[in-house]
Amino acid sequence: MTLKALSRRIVTLLSLGAAFAATPASAAPTNVALVPSDGAKFIVHQRFDIRVEGQGTGPYSAKLWIDGHPARFTSGTQGTSTTDGISAAGWGGFNLRGSSLANKGWHTLTAELTDATGTATVTSRIQVVDPFEGGKGERRLTKNIVILLGDGMGIAHRTAARIVRYGVTAGNPNGRLEMEQFPGTGLVSTHSLNSIITDSSPGMACYTTGNHAFNSQEGVYPANVTNPFFAPRVEYMAEYLHRVKGTSLGLVTTADIEDATPAANAVHTANRNNGTGVVDQYLDESDPSGSKAYGTGLRVLLGGGRRWFMPSTALYSSRTAGTGYAGLPADLIAAWGLPATPSGQGSATRDLIADFKNAGFAYATNNTELNSLMGGRTPDKLLGLFGYGNMNVALDKIAKRRGMLPPGATSFAVDDYMAPDQPMLDDMAEAAFEVLSRSHHGFLLMIEGAHIDKQSHLMDADRAIGETLEFDRAVGVARKWADKLGDTTVLVLADHECSGFSLIGALSLSGGISGLKNLPPDNASLDPSVIPARQNAVGTYDLAGFPSYQILADGYPATMDIDHKVLVGFGANSDRYETWLSKPTPVIDSLLPSQFKGTTGILGLKGYATIPELRTIDQHGFFIRGQLNGEGQAVHTATDIPVSAYSTGNKAWIRFVGSQKNIDVFFKLMKASLSGDEPTEQEWEERD
Ligand SMILES: [Zn+2]
Repeated sequence: MTLKALSRRIVTLLSLGAAFAATPASAAPTNVALVPSDGAKFIVHQRFDIRVEGQGTGPYSAKLWIDGHPARFTSGTQGTSTTDGISAAGWGGFNLRGSSLANKGWHTLTAELTDATGTATVTSRIQVVDPFEGGKGERRLTKNIVILLGDGMGIAHRTAARIVRYGVTAGNPNGRLEMEQFPGTGLVSTHSLNSIITDSSPGMACYTTGNHAFNSQEGVYPANVTNPFFAPRVEYMAEYLHRVKGTSLGLVTTADIEDATPAANAVHTANRNNGTGVVDQYLDESDPSGSKAYGTGLRVLLGGGRRWFMPSTALYSSRTAGTGYAGLPADLIAAWGLPATPSGQGSATRDLIADFKNAGFAYATNNTELNSLMGGRTPDKLLGLFGYGNMNVALDKIAKRRGMLPPGATSFAVDDYMAPDQPMLDDMAEAAFEVLSRSHHGFLLMIEGAHIDKQSHLMDADRAIGETLEFDRAVGVARKWADKLGDTTVLVLADHECSGFSLIGALSLSGGISGLKNLPPDNASLDPSVIPARQNAVGTYDLAGFPSYQILADGYPATMDIDHKVLVGFGANSDRYETWLSKPTPVIDSLLPSQFKGTTGILGLKGYATIPELRTIDQHGFFIRGQLNGEGQAVHTATDIPVSAYSTGNKAWIRFVGSQKNIDVFFKLMKASLSGDEPTEQEWEERD
């Protein structure tokens, strides 16, 4: 996401606060809101914070009823202007932290907020379901849950990867992706609490909390508070299962580990970009002593993002006090059973790698070290940080492993990113399973193929397809471990679709790729009556035929530039040039230390582009005007995404067949984990 787009999004979020507001009888207070909002759904004993807030003239006071019974706030001093001490300027707020409900059914929350000029009343109806009941058959519980999250992966990404990997003969695919071999397939709607189009924060958090969140927020409800980490919380699956069953958590990603998808399993924040606090919370709420009184039970954390773990005094550190939190509100700490604020938490100079090591984590910085760690006695806990920011994509990692520069490149991207020896996603998945398989009480493991999304944003079709191939290899690892361990449910899904990725045809040009390379530049011709040469190179319908890629022993294509290559269009695109050729270098990743970014940064000086439109190699291609004003990249779409389910020990996979809402995934996984096996007839009928 560009900065401009981000700031526009924040403005949108602020104005949307009103969507949850009641209309008071008198003039003020205004924008009065109660969370959890109307329609929220929980499982019995799942924790959540209740908050009422509004804008007005102090002093403020408030009252709260749950099913008509008065309830007491844990913070917010009655008859004051400061209220809870964490509300934004001009706002009054009152909180009941760490609430939960034991009885299933609908419940009514009612709150009154009074300021100097009047009183407003707000109501939420919330639903509680009991995952411990239901299920039929032998009722074998799912012990281990694996969520493989192909970020931004729509149906077309899967199809493209399958065609490239296996090819098609006379109309029949010559093979199936690992994820396509799962028995249960369904569709999932991906909307967030404030938009039909989600970003990755609520996109993941809905699966892990059963609740919708605002865009850019994870594990929290919207609130006007002074620090995004103070927002009202909802309990994660990892926290609930750790508290109730003693499970462990593993997070594996090819992104910077502070990124929204991994964080939306373990971190409560109203700002996904506050990396210092995000990575601090991974450790500080991991329950390192195994008390099961709080936290996630985090034992595996693998990905990029070393910049957040190094003190600000270290080169390429991104830690700042401004993106952290010095301490959480006292009532939040008490109600959620959290430890007192660790020293150094939130500070720019914290050495978080040392703190992870002190908490018992073995630490690897590259693939060689990871292999060496895993070759010895299996570590009890594992931290791997394989890049300063985002890790590199599959095709760039494979190029280095093969020792073959991509056509047109003068250096290896992994060297330019200063991370020459990175593991592949399936390498990381294997290590994560090895460590977590020693968890006696089971585990939740999230494995993210992050760059399917990021390369789709950048409209780099070949790299996005390479990412889907890499992700599918991790799916294969998960299936193997599910068979080995038993009682394991594996889901493959996405948080949303990205870019309107679409297979439009295949290259159809006499002379193939060399013919394409020899075409004259089209970039000067913007006259709609002149057909650019490369537009004529798109073979549609019959001319697309059956592309055939050569796959090497490492599982990846020898080259993406074959004479009859698959061509991809982008339905949610920004301005770009299209050559149809593979890009020698990636566009500069969004999540990197500042020194790497921009036209005059480390990568910019080596010729890497900051946005797709500025990729000089592409400017020989024809110019495509995107629909999106002011976006440098393609964007997410509201299209439903596919889910594929597999389970061993029980038939939990059946629950995911059909169409469902994103939050349903949480409740189905909790059913599998707490009552087991396939749904009863009644459960099928009651599906919504
Ligand atoms: Zn995205």
